[in-house]
Amino acid sequence: MPSSYDFIIVGAGTAGCTLARRLVDTQKVTVALIEAGKKDTNPFIHMPIGVAVLSSMTGINWNYNTAAQSTLNDRCLFWPRGKVMGGSSSVNAMVYIRGQYSDYDEWEAMGAEGWSAKEVLPLFIRSEDNIRGADAFHGVGGPIGVSDLRYHDAASDAFVAAAQHVHLPQVDDFNTHARLGLGIYQVFHRDGQRCSTAKGFITPILQHPNLTIMTNTQVRKVLLEDNIATGVECEVNGQIVNYTANQEVILSGGAINSPQLLMLSGIGDKAHLAQHLIECIVDLPAVGQQLKDHLDIVVQVKASLPCGYAVMPRLLPKYIAHGVQYLTQKKGLLTSNAAEAGGFAASRYGSAEKPDLQFHFIPGLIVDHGRQLEFDYGFSLHVCHLYPASSGTIRLASKSPSDAPLIDPNYLASDEDLYALVDGVRLARQIFTAPEFTPYGLSPWFPAASSLAEDLTDEAIIAFIKAHAQTVYHPVGTCRMGAIEDPNTVVDPQCRVKGVQRLRVVDASVMPNIIGGNTNAPTIMIAEKIAAHIMCE
Ligand SMILES: Cc1cc2nc3c(=O)[nH]c(=O)nc-3n(C[C@H](O)[C@H](O)[C@H](O)COP(=O)(O)OP(=O)(O)OC[C@H]3O[C@@H](n4cnc5c(N)ncnc54)[C@H](O)[C@@H]3O)c2cc1C
Repeated sequence: MPSSYDFIIVGAGTAGCTLARRLVDTQKVTVALIEAGKKDTNPFIHMPIGVAVLSSMTGINWNYNTAAQSTLNDRCLFWPRGKVMGGSSSVNAMVYIRGQYSDYDEWEAMGAEGWSAKEVLPLFIRSEDNIRGADAFHGVGGPIGVSDLRYHDAASDAFVAAAQHVHLPQVDDFNTHARLGLGIYQVFHRDGQRCSTAKGFITPILQHPNLTIMTNTQVRKVLLEDNIATGVECEVNGQIVNYTANQEVILSGGAINSPQLLMLSGIGDKAHLAQHLIECIVDLPAVGQQLKDHLDIVVQVKASLPCGYAVMPRLLPKYIAHGVQYLTQKKGLLTSNAAEAGGFAASRYGSAEKPDLQFHFIPGLIVDHGRQLEFDYGFSLHVCHLYPASSGTIRLASKSPSDAPLIDPNYLASDEDLYALVDGVRLARQIFTAPEFTPYGLSPWFPAASSLAEDLTDEAIIAFIKAHAQTVYHPVGTCRMGAIEDPNTVVDPQCRVKGVQRLRVVDASVMPNIIGGNTNAPTIMIAEKIAAHIMCE
């Protein structure tokens, strides 16, 4: 294996795989794609319903936990992140959402020049191979399959039909301008299987002579000479190995590991680095700051009718029939992503033009990220707050690359974030009272109540949120992009790290602010944009 490459990309996740493919496609450069995790051979990655158990599979996951959150009864929240080819795109719920287009105009207004909605729309379209065909918002022929679900449960239809009960429209496509309302999500699927970025971008070019993929290889730090990135130091099977980058090192380790790697390399807040006896090469206090995430609360109901995706012996014949259908035709229940339906609504702080709540409806009872089983029938309705004012930090726990960094999302630092979720819980409970759900015989489970019709007090809902809120897995912002002179930024609008040459960060960490939706498609878009930029340089 050569020891030098034109580009070294750290992390074969959503952004890393996208970038690697685009750079290799030029035929002009050699690329090393370095991934700490293993190959994506686990069948539960590819079979969409496998998402229900992926968070419990520790071998393909970083298994992070946050610091204790004082606003959430001092709980440490579980943060799964993919540690495998495809990164979090191999373990996520596959929901294809771009965010509110005005989010990108706001990015530009914050100093991310060139990232307005008008400029990023063609980049979303470029990666896409949408089963519905091409139009002003969608593309065909791209590496990433975007599909309608081949199968969804009848309860997801009931959820969508309940929209009128809560005065919301039904939405057919959440990726145009009008997205207030409920609908069935489009998903990152091709032919009834997950289309991660590894599958979409990398599998077709695995044998390309210009691409070297190293799995089970953890980068420990970026090698710097006179503030120029020259390569990376890695650990492979307990051995330390260095690789040289002739042109650039690109960090695509995600919102937790990219800031960690910068700090381990001496790029970060000088005082914090000094605490860990790391020599400060570039004093960049913004590294690891501005961590934003979507805090989520799940309203769960039990059903008296046998239904949905319950772990119940009575449904075994149905699962066997669907298993056969999946194996023979890639159809049926096993092609479901579990979070089949959802949509957008406004809390007291949002508006029809800019909804600030998002739903994910699951026709089953998923408990503790799928790590606990509940043997009963019922449904789960996630609701998350899309535009939190609270922001947190990623800090080093030690100077050892093997130690997990300290993750402090600082949830609910603002009352607005809490009361937006209170409105979300009320709306979710109201959705379950829609006549479309009557045949299921629903009764409240979480939050507990005498009936779904009982009007819970703010205090009761707040106690429920504090006891049960969790992440919905969208950390961003820890290597924030923006104007070079802005002290709150880490990278410029071309994602170049300030104060260092030949080093970029390209992943969800560069988002100037969290977008109003799931973050996989926006992260692909970020990588598409920077790849195009590198090719023009
Ligand atoms: C459980 C879950 C469900 C989600 N559901 C959805 C959804 O339905 N829809 C959606 O749009 N988004 C979803 N997301 C979010 C979305 O998947 C992420 O925002 C996106 O994948 C982030 O991409 P990234 O490139 O920044 O990081 P990642 O995809 O996480 O990639 C980072 C990669 O870098 C590797 N790496 C890290 N450090 C090192 C190192 N030191 N050396 C070598 N390699 C390293 C990691 O192993 C990983 O492969 C979900 C996320 C999770 C975890």
